[in-house]
Amino acid sequence: MKYSNYMEVSFKALSVNEGFARVCVASFCVQLNPSVDEITDIKTAVSEAVTNCVVHAYPTSVKGDVILRCELEDDLVTITVTDKGVGIKDITRAREPFYTSKPSSERSGMGFTVMESFMDDVQVSSNSFGTSVRMTKKISASSCAVAG
Ligand code: ATP
Ligand code: MG
Repeated sequence: MKYSNYMEVSFKALSVNEGFARVCVASFCVQLNPSVDEITDIKTAVSEAVTNCVVHAYPTSVKGDVILRCELEDDLVTITVTDKGVGIKDITRAREPFYTSKPSSERSGMGFTVMESFMDDVQVSSNSFGTSVRMTKKISASSCAVAG
C-alpha cells in the first residue's frame, strides 16, 4: 500500500445534513482525482445511506448521531455510514429492490439498490443498537492521481 488517508465526521440525523455529508465526502475524495462520474456515484450512494439514517434510524423526535467515515487506500475508497438507531431486523429483505417499511411516506424502497449499483460493494451490519453500511469503490487507474 502506497497511500493511506481517512476522515471521520459525525452530525445529527437531520435531513439538512444530507447535503453536507455528500459534499464532505466528495471534497475528501478529490485527492484521488476521480472522474466526474465516479464522484457523482459516490455522492449519490452517500446520500442514500445518510437519508436512511435520517428517515429510519431514529423514529422518535429525538434524533441521534450519524458517523460518516471515509478511508482511502491507494485507489480504493471505503465509506462507512453508522447510526445508533433502532436497527434493521431483516437485512436481506431490506436490501430487496422496492422493499420499504414506509410505503405511506412515498419511499420507493430503492435506497440500497441505488447504493449497490453505484458502488462496487455494499455491506450492511445491524443490531438493535444501530446500523452500519460499508461501501467501497475503486477509482479508475486512468484518473487516480494522489498528491502525497
Ligand atoms: P427510498 O430509499 O427509496 O426512499 P427506503 O429508504 O424505504 O426508500 P431503502 O433505502 O432500500 O428504501 O431501505 C429499505 C428499508 O431498510 C427501509 O424501508 C427501512 O425499513 C430499512 N432501513 C434502511 N436503513 C435503515 C437504518 N439506517 N435504520 C433502520 N432501518 C433502516
Ligand atoms: Mg432509503
